[in-house]
Amino acid sequence: MPSRSPTLFDLTGRTALITGSVRGIGFAFARGLAQAGARVILNGRNKAALDEAVGKLSGEGLSVLGLQFDVADEAAITGAFKRLDDQNIPVDILINNAGIQFRKPMVDLALADWERVLNTNLTAAFLVGREAARRMLPRGQGGKVINICSLTSEMARNTVAPYTAAKGGLKMLTRSMAVEWGPHNVQTNGIGPGYIATEMNRALIDDPKFDAWVKASNPAQRWGQPEELVGAAIFLSSAASNYVNGQIIYVDGGWLAVL
Ligand code: NDP
Repeated sequence: MPSRSPTLFDLTGRTALITGSVRGIGFAFARGLAQAGARVILNGRNKAALDEAVGKLSGEGLSVLGLQFDVADEAAITGAFKRLDDQNIPVDILINNAGIQFRKPMVDLALADWERVLNTNLTAAFLVGREAARRMLPRGQGGKVINICSLTSEMARNTVAPYTAAKGGLKMLTRSMAVEWGPHNVQTNGIGPGYIATEMNRALIDDPKFDAWVKASNPAQRWGQPEELVGAAIFLSSAASNYVNGQIIYVDGGWLAVL
């Protein structure tokens, strides 16, 4: 019988910061990593929503705390990391999850909307990743960065040009981080979710035509649930992935395999 190591995926003693984790996929990651043993720092812009999410998970007996900041605001990010420094809280695992969508044909798209989407989905991963790495590298204890990519890291769709450009860029930022930080035992990888049933997609789920297209287009024939991304996140957060670097794992029901 091959032996199985329960410690391979154990996150006990590790601290994980997950951006945009008051709901949806980020909240599922927070619960999943905390259940795997990590202390989890939840993040959001809205204090009341953040407190509620932290309260919910601590009520389940999980080790969580909240860190309020806007991932699109460089000064807010550096201030938040300073608050962690002041409390001697290291970040061993960072999940760059916060993201926004905005739908408009490109010919009608304003620069401000382009920049808002790029800032939140791409530049934020650089800024938060940079602050985390500035601490992980000198500590010399390695680390994990996970960037939440998308099917649009590979393919385009109508009306989502800034999101597609940002998620495509995030895939290559993942590889840049992997190259620069890998020699310091920091592995950077991405997760590319398929269509997942969250608030971000509320209007699409409620649109019978779009809903039918999702169900007809992927081998799973359904929307994914946020919890179905957690296994990949635990793998990429744990010692099980110590020789995996610069990869994107698509958790999409098989969507990218279909012609
Ligand atoms: P949701 O809209 O449900 O959640 C997004 C979270 O990000 C919210 O908690 C939101 O908080 C937070 N957020 C947004 N902007 C900021 C900001 N500037 N600073 C801090 N937090 C912010 O989305 P999902 O859970 O569906 O998406 C999570 C990630 O997964 C995103 O990166 C998304 O692009 C990606 N993804 C999602 C897919 C899907 O089908 N759902 C598919 C592929 C990728 P607030 O209340 O403050 O807005």
